[in-house]
Amino acid sequence: MAQTDAYLIRCPSCWTQNRIPADRAGQTAKCGKCKSAVPTDSLLAAAPVMVTDRDFENKILKSPLPVLLDCWAPWCGPCQTTAPIMTELAKEWKGRARVGKLNIDQNPLTATRFQVMSVPTFLIFDKGRLRETIPGAVDKGTLQAKMRPYLYAA
Ligand SMILES: [Zn+2]
Repeated sequence: MAQTDAYLIRCPSCWTQNRIPADRAGQTAKCGKCKSAVPTDSLLAAAPVMVTDRDFENKILKSPLPVLLDCWAPWCGPCQTTAPIMTELAKEWKGRARVGKLNIDQNPLTATRFQVMSVPTFLIFDKGRLRETIPGAVDKGTLQAKMRPYLYAA
């Protein structure tokens, strides 16, 4: 993949796209439109982010990047199979999307809020809203295809 020299990060207040030079990633930028703080530390995460009921709002709804959230449980066999896929996708989408993991046993409020009835269930969030619900252990190609409309151009 070509070296990325800048990222397009949405402002969590007004959703305007801001161009963040790669060497500024990790710092907090200021939105060009509304002057709100735009956190860019998520750019550096090339691994899935652990999400809880407590930080769901900040990490997912206010995420400056689109999110693929894996709702899983420790007792679920297929969830173990999809775990390495989430790690791969987090690397592939570094700076373009956030990959999150939510343990539904420990975080029942979020699971109930988004009607997660079975595990694994994958949720796609963008601009602070749920966009897609994908129940079941789907393969990597399906997740890539579902996320494609939400990923910013590389
Ligand atoms: Zn803004």
